[in-house]
Amino acid sequence: MESLNAIFSPGSVAVVGASTTPGKVGHDIFANILKGQFTGILYPVNPRARSILSVRAYPSLTDIPDDVDLAILILPPEQSLKAVTEAAEKGVKGIVIVSAGFREVGKGGLEIENRIVSICREAKIRLVGPNCLGVINPRANVSLNASFSNRMPKPGNISFISQSGALCTAVLDFAAEKDFGFSKFISIGNKADVDELDLLNYLHNDLDTEVIMIYLEELRRGPEFIEQVKKITSGDRPTPILVIKSGTTSAGAQAAASHTGSLAGSEAVYDAIFQQAGIIRVSTINELFDFAGVFAYRNESSLGKYRKKIPMGNRVAIVTNAGGPGIVATDMTLNSGLRLAQLQKETVETLASHLPSTANLHNPVDIIGDASKERYENALAAVIRDEGVDGALVILTPQSMTNALGTAEAVAKIAKRTHKPILCCFMGIFDVSKGVQYLQENGIPVFRFPEDTAKAFGALYRYSNWLNRQHLAQFTLEHDRERAAAIIADCLAKGKTRIGELEGNEILKCYGFKVLTTRLAVDEDKAVSLAEEIGFPVVMKISSPQILHKSDANGVKVGLKNIDEVKAAFREILKNAAAYDANAVIDGVIVQAFAPPGDEVILGVSRYPIFGPLLMFGFGGIFVEVLRDVAFRLAPIQRNESRRMVRSIKSFKLLEGFRGKPRSDITAIEKDVVRLSDLSINHPEIKEMDINPLRVHGDGEGTTVADCRMVLTALD
Ligand code: ADP
Ligand code: MG
Repeated sequence: MESLNAIFSPGSVAVVGASTTPGKVGHDIFANILKGQFTGILYPVNPRARSILSVRAYPSLTDIPDDVDLAILILPPEQSLKAVTEAAEKGVKGIVIVSAGFREVGKGGLEIENRIVSICREAKIRLVGPNCLGVINPRANVSLNASFSNRMPKPGNISFISQSGALCTAVLDFAAEKDFGFSKFISIGNKADVDELDLLNYLHNDLDTEVIMIYLEELRRGPEFIEQVKKITSGDRPTPILVIKSGTTSAGAQAAASHTGSLAGSEAVYDAIFQQAGIIRVSTINELFDFAGVFAYRNESSLGKYRKKIPMGNRVAIVTNAGGPGIVATDMTLNSGLRLAQLQKETVETLASHLPSTANLHNPVDIIGDASKERYENALAAVIRDEGVDGALVILTPQSMTNALGTAEAVAKIAKRTHKPILCCFMGIFDVSKGVQYLQENGIPVFRFPEDTAKAFGALYRYSNWLNRQHLAQFTLEHDRERAAAIIADCLAKGKTRIGELEGNEILKCYGFKVLTTRLAVDEDKAVSLAEEIGFPVVMKISSPQILHKSDANGVKVGLKNIDEVKAAFREILKNAAAYDANAVIDGVIVQAFAPPGDEVILGVSRYPIFGPLLMFGFGGIFVEVLRDVAFRLAPIQRNESRRMVRSIKSFKLLEGFRGKPRSDITAIEKDVVRLSDLSINHPEIKEMDINPLRVHGDGEGTTVADCRMVLTALD
């Protein structure tokens, strides 16, 4: 951790490969550090130059007479390797390799990169890059701009980590336009040594960083990332993390033989990781900045400590001087997961005493087009004091009487006195610019459109849900892991990699799932005797390794009430199977007990390289692919994450009971998801699996597995 100080706050920097030719990277980075008024000592290294920009140059790192904390390398791979060896000799503490030509160009490059990493590890040097844009620390006590960008951003309390160098420059331009300040700014390139997780940990402990923004293309750690980042985004001093993720990834699942496999995909993995780690995902750079602004929003308390303005709930009050934008804001508020606060009687009375008779005293509070700054101040003060209000949106449209600056001052005054967030939407550009500037200078989030304002508030609210999430005692579940392992080993020994309900149910039973009696009949008489043994009504299904979706082959008959129906079903199922796929190997027909009624949900697993098993839960049955109402998590998870997962699907309301439909056994689903997580972690041979449907009965009555399928692979 400490070791990253050499990268962000070095006392001395050497630029190895500094150049006398303007326009070359080696020249420009050196010039940017110089121009940026770095507070430490700067050394150019170049064997063929006496000086660079009037600064005495040294032929090599080892020729520099003093200590060097940070070496910035702008050299081709072979020469970088040599410079790293010298850096180790010299006792350099941090290295940034800007140049490309390593891992990203192929095997030769990767080899050199790996050698560099091992030298650095040995010498305890932290390495950023290669193939990156560099590092910026705008704080006055360091003032380091070791980057391609000739623009040193303003100091602020937002840090930015980028996997793409090119994006960094765009973000810096954007930041300049928005008057945004940064604490630390870093491009991580190939992540040969320092990766986003190291940086997140470092920045979390950095007192100058309030919010972290990341641009990410891929992760190379899964469960470990979740485990550590969860602590960063929660805890006593949580640091909100905003991510924008793009790019294709190599994490893609293999050919899918299950619903879970076909519904998952690398994006599902990333969504799961972000959800579990408490990271807020945004979709555009604009949103990244909008959200960063509101997450950096804070009050200074009398003790000199800062407190973030995170709402305690989702009840928003809107104060506007125009009806139309008020309506837009109301709609967007609802779309962003927020509610319009119901104002208390006293609040309405206070509003009535300050506002003209044409005003709307109920939320959204319309203080009318001719609203003065006093009217804004009185109305906002009244609603923000209301206990039923968790935060406010102030909307201002420029009209002839509008005093944008005065209103901004009034908002700032009230904002200082409350912990509730107040977000502003000052519409228009020229007429409101003085007010906007005042708000920005005072750290109050201000937007141009009501929809962006509401979205940003929605993000704050989601983060408050994360911070205040429940921590219930874990379930105590008992598993017969050995027996499950033995069944799996037995299947694999027989070369059976696609297994259905016969073996699948046995495995699930070991983990405490409630399964139905399921037996195989190879002829009609056996089907009848099994049905009599199980008890009518029964269900019959085709059993064939080639027929994945039995209903597609008309291979499922439910509710068979007597011997004749069983006999007819047996013949029909075989006939349908032959018609569906003449080459399918038919094991026989399954006879199964009839499942009690209930909601049909799906549970599944799809295993990914690096990340491990991805769990899926969703509203299921045969329509799962149509509804696509599913949620994902990386295993392992326990009760609390399972609970959040189950609650995150759109149809959760149906499970809770809806319009006379009684509540389903939600706790039983949560338990089953944890069972599934344990199963997938304990048995890496399970490559994919579906339980579809899992029937969920009424509250307290549990669940029943009514179909399952697994794909196994032998491990080497
Ligand atoms: P498929 O291979 O097509 O997914 P399933 O075994 O899931 O076949 O059966 C299709 C549907 O039949 C299920 O979604 C469920 O609604 C119903 N079903 C399956 N088994 C039973 C059972 N034992 N009791 C009651 N209904 C069942
Ligand atoms: Mg099914």
